[in-house]
Parts: sequence; C-alpha cells; structure tokens
Amino acid sequence: MQRDDIKAQGLLRLLTQGLLAHAEYKTASELGDRSQYIGMSDIGKGMECMRSAVASKLGASAIPVSAAIGELAQGDLAHVLGRQIILQRGHWQEDGVQKALQAAGVKLIPQLEISVEHSGVPMKAHLDFTLVWGGDRPAVRILELKSNERIPESLYASYEAQLYGQVGLLKSYWNKPCFSVTEAGVKKATFPQAVRSIFGVDLPESPEDVDIEGWVLSISISMAKVKPFGPYQPEKSMLEACLQTAVGIWRTMEDVRSGTLELNDLDYCRGFHPLCDWCDVNKDCPKFQDVNIPSDSACGLELEELAILKESKTTIEKRIAEAEERIRQTYRSIGSQDWVSVGGHRFRVATVSGRKTLDRSLVMDTLTELIDDLTAQDALEQCEKTGKPHERLYIGKINKILKSVA
Ligand code: SF4
Repeated sequence: MQRDDIKAQGLLRLLTQGLLAHAEYKTASELGDRSQYIGMSDIGKGMECMRSAVASKLGASAIPVSAAIGELAQGDLAHVLGRQIILQRGHWQEDGVQKALQAAGVKLIPQLEISVEHSGVPMKAHLDFTLVWGGDRPAVRILELKSNERIPESLYASYEAQLYGQVGLLKSYWNKPCFSVTEAGVKKATFPQAVRSIFGVDLPESPEDVDIEGWVLSISISMAKVKPFGPYQPEKSMLEACLQTAVGIWRTMEDVRSGTLELNDLDYCRGFHPLCDWCDVNKDCPKFQDVNIPSDSACGLELEELAILKESKTTIEKRIAEAEERIRQTYRSIGSQDWVSVGGHRFRVATVSGRKTLDRSLVMDTLTELIDDLTAQDALEQCEKTGKPHERLYIGKINKILKSVA
C-alpha cells in the first residue's frame, strides 16, 4: 500500500472509531443500559420479527466496540463506517430540527423519558421532541424524527407501533411519577410537574382535557425532502398491543438466556422484508436455508462485482440528479422560455403533463353510487389484469456478528 493510502486508511479508522465512541457515549447517557428494559424501538422490531428483536436485546450486534477498531480488516472498516454514517445521520438532523423549532418559539422538551413497569417488565420510551402548549387549549405534540434514504409512501408498521406506544404511555401515565428529562434535571415527575418545572406552564391534571397527538417527521438523507406522517392519537387497543409485545420480548429473552428456547426456535418474519438486510443475526437465520458456494467461485466473485457496480450506479444516479437540478436552476436564472445552447449541447426546461393513473378507491366510490357494493367490487375485480410472473433476483448482505449473544 502506498504511503498516502496508508494515511487515508488511518484517517478513516480514526473517523470510524470516533463515530463508534460517540454512539456508545450517546447511548449510555441518553438511553442507559438497554439490556435492562424494553424500549419502543424494540417493540416496533418485535412486532415485525421476534427473533431479531430478542437477539438484539441479548447483545447480538454487527457493530464492534470503538476500542476494537484497530483490529478490523480494511473491508470490514469500510462497512462499519458506512453503516455508522447511516445510523448517526438521524442524530445530526435532530440537532438542526431542535434548533429550528426552538427558534420558532416552541416550548420543546428534547429526549423526554417515560419509564414504567407493566406485568413486571421494565419499559422505557424516549421521545425525540415533545412540544407543549398551555392556556385555554392545552396541547401536546410528540415528534419522532426518522432519517430515510427515500421518503416512504406510507409509514412502516414498526414506526407506527413506536408512535402509538409513545402517545399511549404519555396519556396513561400522565399523572404518575414516570417522566424524566436529563437535560433539564427533571427526575421521576408527573408530566404536568415536569412541564411546570421546565417552562412554568400549567397543564390540566387530566390528559382527557389535553389535545395529544404524535407525528413522525421523515427527512430524506439528502435533506431535500421532509414529510410529516400523522396524527397518531392515544388508542387503548394499540397501547395494549405494544405492552403485550414488550412482555413477549422480555419473557422470550429470559427463556433464551435460561436455555429453554434457542434463538432459532423463535418466530421470524416471513417473505421478503427490508429489516433482514439490517438484521444483526441474518447470518444463520432459519428463514434462509442457504446452499453454500465458496466465496472465491465464479458466482461469489460475480456477486462481489455486482455489489460494487450497484454502489457505483447509486452514486452516479445521485450525481446525475444533482447535476440536473443545478442545470434547471441555471435555466430559471437565465429567464429564457426557449432552448439555451452551450458548447455542443442545448437544453430547456419544459412542463410536461403528469402521468395518468386510476385511483382505485375513487372508482369504487363512484361505482357504489351507481350500483351496490358487491357488484362494484365484482366489476372492479373483473377489470383487473395480473401481469405474467417473472423472475426477480434478490441479493442481501450477510452481517457478521462481532459481539456474541449473551
Ligand atoms: S434475518 Fe430477517 S427474518 Fe431473520 S431474524 Fe433477521 S429480520 Fe428476522
């Protein structure tokens, strides 16, 4: 390796170590020992895949500790660094959003902790932002930030579970000493006490007199798009489902620890699931009955090359989108309505008609005004066409476990 390459590697190693050390510090200071309670993200994960939720609670992790960075091979280092940047970008966005909301004059509590016990299971919810309004129309808004590669069309079930858990706990434990805010020195207060101590604002003693909602703010990694999802209101049945999942994860953890159950005895999500690529225990998951082919076989090398090509494709597509946006801006600043030529190219920005699609539910509503429900449903089904089945190649990353299950 050239001297400059060695120096560049050293810089990346230092950055990775710093990111991991920061993550360890942030987790310890804000979330405490996560093995001692069930959190809302565990519940979200547990609702999608019990095996994955229990394994990560038991300490299975593909993330090494910061002190072990010196031992990582170059390829593993690049993988860990890439993953940390993705995992931590949400925290960086959090900082900016907090400053923006505070600048707008909102009364905002960062990292409100709700700590409760249900059926002997300790549970904690950490709320990114809690916004408070007192006065004649008291209101509380919980805001959960999610950093997404692409803004989803609809919210993932695990995010929704988190939100229902948060608003549900806030309402159910409103008047119990379960609320702490480390930054403000508030410990084990009721919610109205915590708000009074931080802002000097009085809230009603009963949550029934308060307008409570939860929202998710999905921010794209390019920071160019933001989409709110909500509102999520406290619902008894949804809170109950969250609490039961928490109890299920806790009891199953105990069974796996005591050896009554094996990790591979647990239920796991079937079919294609995006969680699997990120799952720390996907290496030996029974969902994948792998036939092993040597990694230095033609197929193994081809797969490696394909992964590199796909990464380059993503980078190139992003660069194309950025360049197109810059050229569009230049066109607007020129103020022309016509073609603009530059060197061997000419360009213009024109408005084209939107794509026509059929709104299924609108068709259904229109039909049911003319005929009865069942006939309308029948008519719609008769007009549906199913495309020919086709092959699709799925490729997933196998994550190495760098910390073992306790
Ligand atoms: S690989 Fe997928 S199915 Fe298996 S435990 Fe992980 S998330 Fe669940």
